[in-house]
Amino acid sequence: MFDGLTERLSTVFDRLSGRGVLSEKDVEEALREVRVALLEADVALPVVKDFITKAKEAATGEAVIRSIRPADQVVKIVYDGLIEMLGGEEPVPLTIALNPPSVILMAGLQGSGKTTTAAKLALRLSKMDRKKVLMASLDTRRPAAMEQLATLGKQIEVETLPILAGQSATDITRRAMSAAKLGGYDILILDTAGRTTLDEGMMSEAAEIARISQPAETLLVADSLTGQDAVRTAKAFHERLPLTGLILTRADGDGRGGAALSMRAVTGLPIKFLGAGEKVDALDVFDARRVAGRILGQGDVIALVEKASTDLDQAKAEAMAKRLAKGQFDLDMMSDQLAQMEKMGGMQGIMGLLPGVQKIKQQVAEAGLSDKMLARQRAIISSMTKAERKKPDILAASRKRRIAAGSGVDVAEINRLLKQHRQMADAFKMMSRDGGKGFARMAGM
Ligand code: GDP
Repeated sequence: MFDGLTERLSTVFDRLSGRGVLSEKDVEEALREVRVALLEADVALPVVKDFITKAKEAATGEAVIRSIRPADQVVKIVYDGLIEMLGGEEPVPLTIALNPPSVILMAGLQGSGKTTTAAKLALRLSKMDRKKVLMASLDTRRPAAMEQLATLGKQIEVETLPILAGQSATDITRRAMSAAKLGGYDILILDTAGRTTLDEGMMSEAAEIARISQPAETLLVADSLTGQDAVRTAKAFHERLPLTGLILTRADGDGRGGAALSMRAVTGLPIKFLGAGEKVDALDVFDARRVAGRILGQGDVIALVEKASTDLDQAKAEAMAKRLAKGQFDLDMMSDQLAQMEKMGGMQGIMGLLPGVQKIKQQVAEAGLSDKMLARQRAIISSMTKAERKKPDILAASRKRRIAAGSGVDVAEINRLLKQHRQMADAFKMMSRDGGKGFARMAGM
């Protein structure tokens, strides 16, 4: 699906790697070409714009890793950007309700591959996850669709709800719910009716079925070959149905990939699976890392840069630990600390890791600590001269006024930062006094 894009991007990167040192202009030009490549792959314009803005920021803000060729760093920046565009590093697993049956509602236009995908999911859940699965077709207008699900069920050895003529979709939903409960099924997959175009009848029926069945997952199946139409369909469905995720079919086809690349950013919904063929086992968990890696086709380069940047972080951390053990803590080190906190997802991210967060959150809010503050404090420090960062004592009133103007804050905020720095520096000094034993204790060594 991404072949065209892969080809375009590799031309861009080949040209870059032909050069040793890259100027800002080289990087800018490369990103301009990446932009064109993404647009040609049919990625939605706002998504491309956002991607390029972030990539530019990363390219100028990135710590230079000397051991890595600049061109490779650009590859890594694009790789990271693609992962973000695709919804982050970790695949999003299916939610299974605590009380069985956990309902999975399948929605989508006719011909998108909905029924086949329902069977693919059922196969996966029953064979890989050892769940007891029941499937039911709600497509009362198309008896053939009901038959199709029953046939697929036989093929994959998953039960389907017996077909009774004359029942409405909501009747079938209720019957399926009670059959699943009585039969001790873990999962109930409901295949809703599809139409060839979006229409109100289909939407309100699906919404009613969702209300009755309270699905743990409402998945939209969309055909990746239809490009931006798939994205528009997803948006329209999401306005009427509380979707929880997307499945893109025909990833094995020669679509340009734009739908897959725009879906997440436009709808905010995670892509959970990719349909990769007509066979019932052709369903892949959507893994942003793997997809981004495949698009770039530069696995080695990415692994290399990732390793170098972890090494760099490690080396930095070790150097900082050494200086702290000597009781040294200047504003550059504080800025590094703040950057580290931002990397971990800011205050919100760090607090998310702590138990009993609610109370702490409140305290943090009362103390006026926020992600904005982290960024502001770093801006203040970066408006200082090297000498000032090393020796904050020289910061007389006139210097503070200059820094305030440069970083867009008032002098009081600079004073608060300096006070905070002094307290931290004092704490480190105290701990280093008994030969670093305080540190050893703190680190649990
Ligand atoms: P529905 O009308 O949305 O239920 O669509 P179907 O499940 O009947 O699928 C329509 C056609 O698309 C069938 O021939 C499927 O075999 C085919 N199909 C579904 N998913 C995929 C896929 O991921 N790749 C390919 N190549 N074909 C698919």
